[in-house]
Formats: sequence, structure tokens, C-alpha cells
Amino acid sequence: MTSFGSLKSAIFDKEERKQQYQAHIRGLNAYDRHKKFIKDYVSFYGKEEKPSTLKLPIKTDKDTLREGYRFIRSEEDDMDPSWEQRLVKRYYAKLFKEYCLADMSQYKSGKIGLRWRTEKEVMSGKGQFICGNKHCNEKDGLASYEVNFCYFEAGENKQALVKLVACDRCAEKLNYKRQKEKEQLEKRQQKQDRKRNRSKSDDDLDEVQESEDRRRKGKRALVSANDHKIEEEDGDSDNIDEFLEGMFP
Ligand SMILES: [Zn+2]
Repeated sequence: MTSFGSLKSAIFDKEERKQQYQAHIRGLNAYDRHKKFIKDYVSFYGKEEKPSTLKLPIKTDKDTLREGYRFIRSEEDDMDPSWEQRLVKRYYAKLFKEYCLADMSQYKSGKIGLRWRTEKEVMSGKGQFICGNKHCNEKDGLASYEVNFCYFEAGENKQALVKLVACDRCAEKLNYKRQKEKEQLEKRQQKQDRKRNRSKSDDDLDEVQESEDRRRKGKRALVSANDHKIEEEDGDSDNIDEFLEGMFP
């Protein structure tokens, strides 16, 4: 029989554990937080679970078994998940359709292949804390770009604006063809203008400056806004979002 006293202390323990957890993650940077959340996710829910929103196109017997297992398991867990469990679960579920990876091997012809990340890549932080170009492992100077991703899922063609994290060098590849065409167009225009205004050399300078400005502006416009609002899935705020801030570059 549960006495009132032990129930009260169980609630207190839970609250205390939550506060200790919050104090601990407050002191961590985004990448260390990611590692902690992933580690805790695995310890709470096991490695095999995938968020229910992610349906793989090809189902194997193993997947079906896995889903059945998850169903039983999460029903049990969802009875009274702790704050820590809700936090890491929300973080993990968000990661899958937040970022994609890019195949940039044909960037010169303007072809950039995109795909979702695998579970392993999500866990390692590839495409979030490591450059999203498949063949690049740069961790510094990353920025996120919004890309239009067309993919095939559950028998349907789908389209979504997703984020691609890239280092400076790879970001240039992302926009290589368009940038090249723009530069050529500008060069041609400048040549024509110069011919026309051969006598007014001051104007030429102004024009070069102006096109430089335009180019810089164009580049900035590609960078996605960081304050992009993440939709609430279950209306369960409970200051969880505060601890996910800065985790989605
Ligand atoms: Zn890179």
C-alpha cells in the first residue's frame, strides 16, 4: 500500500531530479547537449525506436516487429513520462525532418542531390553540427540554408522546405551555377556600360560597387532565418523549448 508520505516524496524526487537535470544541461553547449539528449534518449527508449511520424517506404519483417514493440513500449511509457523523457523525445523526433544531407558531386552543373538523414547520422550530429555535404566533415563556420526538398514517400511526391547545414566552402557549391551565371551577366553588363560611358570613369566605379552590393545581398537572402518558429506538436510547453534553444542551427 502506498502511503501519502511516500507518494509525496516520490513527487519531490521527480521535481528535484528535473531541476538537477535542467541545471546540468544549462551548462552545456549545443553539441554537448545534443550528445546528452541522444544518450538519454537511448537509455529511456532504446536504440531501435523511430518517431512515429517517420514511415520507411520499404517495410521488412524486422520493421514490423520493431513497430509492434514500440507500440507496447511507448504506451507504457506515455502513462507518466518524466520531464526529461518528454524533453529528449521531443528533441529526437524533431531532428528527423529538420535537416537533410546533400550530394554535391555535380555542383558545377547545378545538380544538388538531397536526402533525409539516417538514424545513425541524426545521432552523430552529421548535417547539424557537421557540414551537411556527404563528403565533408567540417565543423567550423557552419550556417544553415533553407532548401526546397522534393522527395518520394508513402507513394506520393512530396515537397518541403528543409534545412541544409553547410560550411563556407560547400555553401559556395550550393549556389555555384546560379552565382556563375549571375557573374557572367554582370560582367557582360559592365562591359556594355563601360563602352557607353567611356568618358565618365566615375560612373563605372559606382556601378561596380553597386553590383558588389547586390551580390552580397543575394547571398545573405539565401541564409535561412534562425528565428524560424518550430511548431508545437502537443501544446505541452512546460519550458521544454527553452532547453532546445540554440540546438537547431
Ligand atoms: Zn563542407
